[in-house]
Amino acid sequence: MILFKKIADIQKYLEHPQQKSKKVGFVPTMGALHRGHASLMQLSMKENDITVASIFVNPLQFNDKRDYVKYPITIEKDVLILSELEIDILFLPDEKEIYPDTSSTMKTYELGRLDTILEASSRPGHFQGVARVMDILLHIVKPDTLYLGQKDFQQIRVIRKLIASEKLQIDVIEAPLIREESGLAMSSRNARLDETGRATASLLFQNLHFIQQHADDRTFETLKNTAIENLERAGFTIDYIVLANSDTLDTLKDFEKGSPMILLAAVFFQDVRLIDNIRL
Ligand code: AMP
Repeated sequence: MILFKKIADIQKYLEHPQQKSKKVGFVPTMGALHRGHASLMQLSMKENDITVASIFVNPLQFNDKRDYVKYPITIEKDVLILSELEIDILFLPDEKEIYPDTSSTMKTYELGRLDTILEASSRPGHFQGVARVMDILLHIVKPDTLYLGQKDFQQIRVIRKLIASEKLQIDVIEAPLIREESGLAMSSRNARLDETGRATASLLFQNLHFIQQHADDRTFETLKNTAIENLERAGFTIDYIVLANSDTLDTLKDFEKGSPMILLAAVFFQDVRLIDNIRL
């Protein structure tokens, strides 16, 4: 694995005639790597000549400063994981490299409704920050294919919109959400939960699963209320549990047979914000 910290160096390498014609897969991350990240890397390695992973904890996408300060950083372990996976390139820039001019006004991205609903409504400015860093990273790496996890369902839509509006020729692969055995969606933020917290946190998945299992015999409202009651009793604070059309992300009042549907949830547990989703 080759590690690059400078934009000029990774670009020089990727643009060298020896590399230029090779198919490049890109897996952007914020580090504190787990099996969810590894699954994206493995997909990319199967389908490309060169796999580039990046680790950059993007300050612009944290609307909550405390969340940024507490974001887990495990660089040494991450480097080990990536070299064991035999990733070709790790891009590990610092903040100055990505945002050299902090005084410049931030470009605004036209994200439409995606910038006001669900995650965007709870985390103002979050997707503008995601779009900004992805705009920069995609112009550096210029991948043929980008690998994104369905764990961040709305984020995939945001990045697809960015790719379209920037007229970039990049395919997007949406990789399945990887879970712990308990059902808990793998997330770097899970490292902030204590051991019993991790076990209890799986109740989020279990309650979404419960809603999914009863979609044919009860209303969404009834099932959602039961799930909220269960979760609040266990110490969760609910941000949202929503049923939506998975193509448009329009929220639905009740299950609609024949429509592609998804349950999306965000909660706080032990002061950690957790998200999860299940397709119906
Ligand atoms: P992050 O480091 O959280 O920014 O995530 C980097 C990439 O890994 C994003 O495309 C995420 O959607 C994806 N990812 C994170 N957690 C999981 C998971 N449990 N399963 C699949 N993909 C994931």
